[in-house]
Amino acid sequence: MSAGTGRIERLECGRCGRARPFGPPPATMCPCGGTLLARYDLKAAKAAAGGSGHDAPLLARVQARPPDLWRYAEMLPPVPAVTLGEGFTPLLEAPRLGAALGAGRLLVKDESQNPTGSFKARGMAVAVSVAAAHGVKVAAAPSAGNAGSALAAYGARAGMEVRLYLPESTPSPLIAEARRLGARVTLVPGSIADAGKALRAALGPPQENGWFDFSTLREPFRVEGKKTMGYELFEQLGGRLPDVILYPTGGGTGLIGMWKAFDEMQALGWIDAARPRMVSVQAQGCAPIVRAFAAGRETAEPWADPVTVAWGLRVPGSLGDALMLRALRESGGDAVAVSDDDLLAATARLATLEGIDACPEGGACVAALETMLRDGRVGRAEVVVLFNTGSGIKYAA
Ligand SMILES: *Cc1c(COP(=O)(O)O)cnc(C)c1O
Repeated sequence: MSAGTGRIERLECGRCGRARPFGPPPATMCPCGGTLLARYDLKAAKAAAGGSGHDAPLLARVQARPPDLWRYAEMLPPVPAVTLGEGFTPLLEAPRLGAALGAGRLLVKDESQNPTGSFKARGMAVAVSVAAAHGVKVAAAPSAGNAGSALAAYGARAGMEVRLYLPESTPSPLIAEARRLGARVTLVPGSIADAGKALRAALGPPQENGWFDFSTLREPFRVEGKKTMGYELFEQLGGRLPDVILYPTGGGTGLIGMWKAFDEMQALGWIDAARPRMVSVQAQGCAPIVRAFAAGRETAEPWADPVTVAWGLRVPGSLGDALMLRALRESGGDAVAVSDDDLLAATARLATLEGIDACPEGGACVAALETMLRDGRVGRAEVVVLFNTGSGIKYAA
């Protein structure tokens, strides 16, 4: 049976640095309002791999395991896996699209092939596994859609009751999917920020009704699930990282997670200090990170009136703004906003040129890459990975 085996030394606040131990009750946020991040004893992970009876180095042992995200067991929380086979999605060469854009080597990390059709499965698999081990019975979250269906699926898998708060504008296929998976759905006027407020009102003070809040970056382990995308890129590129990564950014757990994975891989001796340039892609109708990055800010003001067809990007403000902006800057990266017209046209190109029925969020990365190749911010000999974070099927009219 799959399980994490990591030795978590502490959960550390990404904002103030304060630490708390790992263990029940399940961790939420730092009292300062910052996100807690799991810090592992990676020396122990390496040593255990080289110890008696386990002669192969850690990487070789990882690579001998089944192709799902639990193969990174030593870098995941020490709990049994609640799993539907998430992770280790294909990294697809995209030569036709690359040629059409004038790119060098272009690859698409196709996250639509995860359970429930999006990369939200990664985060929820690990977060629900920890919550189940720590006794949570009722799982709650606001969602723009995909996080909700993923929580519905993993919650069902763990025998939890699941309560979702979704914007009433959420496309009906997603609401239906969550309900099919047994979740109780409350529809809320406004954006995901308003859905989050409604959930926290229902939650009451310190979760006295026994609900656990899986909101983005309000607990430490969705990031742990999403960081495995960074480990997979390294393995799938044969032990290196790409020059540039384009990532469609809402709450930003994927960016923050991959950035954390790169630090861990460096501590493990798998990579050196060089990093891919991380590019945050947003829609012009909701681009708080792009605006803050362009202004050289360390935090992002919430976006007043978020409007975009890419509803995974309709996130007006994130608790991870400072962590994201720091990662973008430290990587020498960038932040790019694209129009809905451009991202929809680019989504169609990904589908017709490469057979990848992408979500509009994935298409947004194609549109951003086109701009960056045109103005020279991405070179024509570089290795570029863009993320298709979900399936186009859920957007079908
Ligand atoms: C949630 C979501 C995003 C944004 O992901 P974050 O890691 O929260 O920034 C992008 N695309 C799709 C399809 C999503 O469901």
